[in-house]
Amino acid sequence: MLITGLRAYAVQLPLTEGSYSWNTQSFAAFESTVVVIETDEGIEGYGEICPLGPSYAPAFADGARTAMRTMAPDLIGMDPTKTDVMAFHLDAILKGHPYAKSAIDAACWDLAGKAAGVPVSTLLGGAFRDSVRLFRVITRQDPQAMVDNMIEYREQGFTHFQAKVGERLDTDLERLDALVESMDGTEVICADANTGWRQHEAIQVAAAMNHMPITMEQPCLTYDECLPVRRNLLRPMILDEVMDSTTAIRRGAADGAMDYINLKISRFGGLSGARRARDLCVDLGIVMTIEDTWGGEIATAAIAHLAASTPDGFHHQSSAFHSYHTVSIADGAPEVQTDGTMTVPTGPGLGVEPNWGALGEPIWEVR
Ligand SMILES: [Mg+2]
Repeated sequence: MLITGLRAYAVQLPLTEGSYSWNTQSFAAFESTVVVIETDEGIEGYGEICPLGPSYAPAFADGARTAMRTMAPDLIGMDPTKTDVMAFHLDAILKGHPYAKSAIDAACWDLAGKAAGVPVSTLLGGAFRDSVRLFRVITRQDPQAMVDNMIEYREQGFTHFQAKVGERLDTDLERLDALVESMDGTEVICADANTGWRQHEAIQVAAAMNHMPITMEQPCLTYDECLPVRRNLLRPMILDEVMDSTTAIRRGAADGAMDYINLKISRFGGLSGARRARDLCVDLGIVMTIEDTWGGEIATAAIAHLAASTPDGFHHQSSAFHSYHTVSIADGAPEVQTDGTMTVPTGPGLGVEPNWGALGEPIWEVR
């Protein structure tokens, strides 16, 4: 199988709840990009990249679109089913920008699965389960509104929640107090500051949280600030934004800096790099939230395949991003079930088919 062309689509993903807010940031929609790899066998592969707005990570939608357009001519004539060969080639022709490579990498895995007639989870080592545990984000709002949301999501079957905090210390503590007060004794809550606290603030939160049955996620901007917080925290620590390489994971494991990481696929250049990071975490005994920086049905399918192929005990939870939107960009996506899990697509490749009407006309094509 050889690549004969690539094309990309830009799509807006408006939020069903009107906004999505973390630390001091808030957005009403996210800009996603779908890439299609065309082949000489007439089979197409699909991938998606959706940075969480331009100010969450060193990534933004127009950057992904431009970087993919820049790389595309160098991919014509290559065999997309050789996923590692493709991933290392992407790193050879463009330094950095792992998020932009992520969608191309996913499309290659989609094609490799279609060529083999198996789901991507099988290529990743095989599915340990046919559905994966989800968490539901409780967007940052007033304390009572966050409690109301948790109750609503509980009624939908969710048992894992990620409460967005990191705005200001006093209000954040009120938010956490209110949520803990409303827990039913079986639920899992993570307080995700998304880098929003200064070190001294996070240490005060740690002192308060030591009496709460919840976990802390990414309290401060840098790894060096998070480490002293960890040493004052008796609850589990998840690191997310600073876990951007296998070097960071190894350092964190050596320092005892975290119990879990939040493994975001696009931060590692796609499924190829995320699989290596996943396997390293398994070897190091680190449990993972497996997700991405956002996305629609295609990105969520990739999450489901990586999560399902992660050994029992090492997968903590994942995100069903497509369930947060008013727009559907593909059919065949993981189905959110009433037990707080989502299904794993069983068709060849990622198991999804774009909804071309929602994608509109391509923003660029290379052949
Ligand atoms: Mg996080």
